[in-house]
Amino acid sequence: MVKAKQVLGVLLLLGMMLGCKDSPKKESNGKLKVVATTSMLTDLLQQVGGDAIEIQGLMGSGVDPHLYKASEGDVNKLFTADMVFYSGLHLEGKLVEIFEKMEKQHRKTVAVTDVLDKKELLASEYFASNYDPHIWFNIDFWKQITEYTAQKLQEADPKNAVLFAKNSARYLEALEVLEKEIRDIISTLPAEKRILVTAHDAFNYFGEAFGFQVLGLQGISTATEAGVQDVQQLSEFIIKNKVKSIFIETSVPRRTIEALQASVGSKGHQVTIGGSLYSDALGTKGTIEGTYIGMFKYNVNTIVSALK
Ligand SMILES: [Zn+2]
Repeated sequence: MVKAKQVLGVLLLLGMMLGCKDSPKKESNGKLKVVATTSMLTDLLQQVGGDAIEIQGLMGSGVDPHLYKASEGDVNKLFTADMVFYSGLHLEGKLVEIFEKMEKQHRKTVAVTDVLDKKELLASEYFASNYDPHIWFNIDFWKQITEYTAQKLQEADPKNAVLFAKNSARYLEALEVLEKEIRDIISTLPAEKRILVTAHDAFNYFGEAFGFQVLGLQGISTATEAGVQDVQQLSEFIIKNKVKSIFIETSVPRRTIEALQASVGSKGHQVTIGGSLYSDALGTKGTIEGTYIGMFKYNVNTIVSALK
């Protein structure tokens, strides 16, 4: 018996090394082993997959997906998972090669943004995809991704299809409630005060959906540094438009926004730092801001109370 197990182990290992092409397989506990890249996606998989899947997230709180490189341990997680969910549109810029390699080996990878209609996306010259990848700030997109995620889990694990459908329906309802709450909070902020200045351009979809003018100091990806001229131009804009507060982000070093604040100060004006927003990563796991819904409410409350 022990011998047979050992032989099986060696065969499994060989299969892994050769990149075997079988369909999603189950762990011994029967649960689908799923890996997700960003903390937003990890939360979504938890909501939809529930107890039926075993989810592992690669990027924790405060981690910048644009710059994230896979460690040896991550590569091992990715290649031993039954399914891998990633955002796509080159959000995870340094992981693209790994995903391509996995796809060549016919491993089960899902780029969740594949479900979105490209015509509805914002263009961006900063990404090889030519699109702005910060799609989670459009709740309607997140709903489509929720349904797509449920569908992909159902295909991989049909015996839990009913559970995935139920979880997804419940979560879609929660997202609907969230959207209404967000609109109510934002309606208390006069339209002319809806100007959002942050460290990097992650909030364009948010601005489009909720009527904010959005300016990011660092361009759309944190891979491009902000220049002196960017700081100058933006500080003039802040003064001209009487912007009361600007915002740091949890996944971007705060020095860029502090440089902007200093530049406004050097011109004899004042702008406060209105708080720290969750842009490309959720808060700590286990806290309210560690979920997509909690993060969204926290951001909007922070923005609205600082700009009022
Ligand atoms: Zn970003």
